[in-house]
Amino acid sequence: MAAYDDNNVFAKILRGEIPNETVYEDEHVLSFKDINPQAPTHVLVIPKGRYVSSDDFFNEASDAEIAAFFRAVGKIARQLGIVESGYRILANCGRDANQEVPHFHLHIFAGRHLGPMLANTGGA
Ligand code: 5GP
Repeated sequence: MAAYDDNNVFAKILRGEIPNETVYEDEHVLSFKDINPQAPTHVLVIPKGRYVSSDDFFNEASDAEIAAFFRAVGKIARQLGIVESGYRILANCGRDANQEVPHFHLHIFAGRHLGPMLANTGGA
């Protein structure tokens, strides 16, 4: 696994070097609107710790960080008012998933019917 790159765009957002539209923040977590939304609601949730991917986060983060992260996802969904209508959470990990930013992040999509889980996959 590649080492954490302190120049990735989410590291810059965490340091305040790039602006963001914050949706939620606590000691361990930042959530902000995606710059290129793929649904009427599209927010990103990131840990404040330096984790390259979901693999890195799930294996290296403390129990407190992991609990805080998933508790925050639940709070954010309620705060956004998308629980009743429904939402999708997604994390891309590595090359085959097309992960673009090497700081672990979860996408939350909502606000319209999101269709099948994967599109244009070419099948199994
Ligand atoms: P990935 O493909 O790595 O799962 O998703 C990266 C996401 O980060 C993309 O949805 C992209 O639009 C978003 N993104 C990239 N750069 C920025 C940025 O500077 N600000 C915000 N808010 N989102 C960004």
